[in-house]
Amino acid sequence: MAFVLILAAGLWGIGALLGTPRRMRWTMIGMLWVGVVLLHLVLPVGSPLRMATGGSAAPWLLLGGLAALVLVYRSALRRVRVRAEAAEAKNAPKPREGAFSEVELERYARHIVLREVGGPGQRALKDARVLVIGAGGLGAPALTYMAAAGVGTIGVIDDDVVDLSNLQRQVIHRDRDIGRPKVHSAAEALRALNPHVTVRPYERRLTEDIAADLFADYDIVLDGCDNFETRHLVNYAAVATRLPLISGALTQWEGQLSVFDPAQGAPCYACVFPEVPAEGLAPSCAEAGVIGPLPGVIGAMMAGEAIKLITGAGAPLRGTLLIYDALFSDARRIKIERRRDCAVCCAKEDR
Ligand SMILES: [Zn+2]
Repeated sequence: MAFVLILAAGLWGIGALLGTPRRMRWTMIGMLWVGVVLLHLVLPVGSPLRMATGGSAAPWLLLGGLAALVLVYRSALRRVRVRAEAAEAKNAPKPREGAFSEVELERYARHIVLREVGGPGQRALKDARVLVIGAGGLGAPALTYMAAAGVGTIGVIDDDVVDLSNLQRQVIHRDRDIGRPKVHSAAEALRALNPHVTVRPYERRLTEDIAADLFADYDIVLDGCDNFETRHLVNYAAVATRLPLISGALTQWEGQLSVFDPAQGAPCYACVFPEVPAEGLAPSCAEAGVIGPLPGVIGAMMAGEAIKLITGAGAPLRGTLLIYDALFSDARRIKIERRRDCAVCCAKEDR
């Protein structure tokens, strides 16, 4: 009997060495068992071969029976497990229905595969409301990339009309839009790019009496305006409504941006630029000129900061001023801090 068992173990071992599948190895051992049982049934009692393999068929039949029992038990166990898993899958909570249509899933597929954005990040983008001040050089790329990225509600406020001299850099408008209000030209371009986002154009100048009410409808403010009075007004209203302010600015070949967010410990715009510069010290784009692609770079970075704030990805530019020099292709980061005597953010907190 020991001889047959050693033979079986040998078969298993050789099969394992050759990489034979387990099922095949069990089949070979089963054939060996059938051969031994047949030997006992065919050969006469007392034959040397029968004596060498245990003397009778009984122990082999017992062994076969035990093996069959184990097989039946295991297969029953597997069936029960499969049934339990199926029931579990049926009772598992279903993913939120109606969150994204098939078309949207395909549109945002390159975001959804990003670990830092994924499905939840794209959902957050869809739920987000961003207000953009100015539909000019910075507004054009910022609005375009945010609409393309699927920021669900985008407000844009501007009282200007498209001028021929804008088209050298304000790529959201077209030649046929000359003379049209910028917000309507921009809104049309955004809707044509992504019909799944809501665009709210406000054709008017941002003033103190409407700023706080308007800001209250949004989660983030993005400032791409072209004058210091409006920048300070935007900052004042953003601090009052505790909204993060993504602010960008340009002169000739140099651009800068930062995320002003005193509600999160970062400085506000007035902490860094406390005063409106004297007339002529900070010339506008119209007076000093600006290289066409520069607003594209800074405005796209502003859209990137908005996406980071919304999805929680990476580290936004809070407490950091990023300066980009297009003429020498150089970028610098400057650490900026809150001023304890800031008339805007500190005065607000003391109240
Ligand atoms: Zn401040």
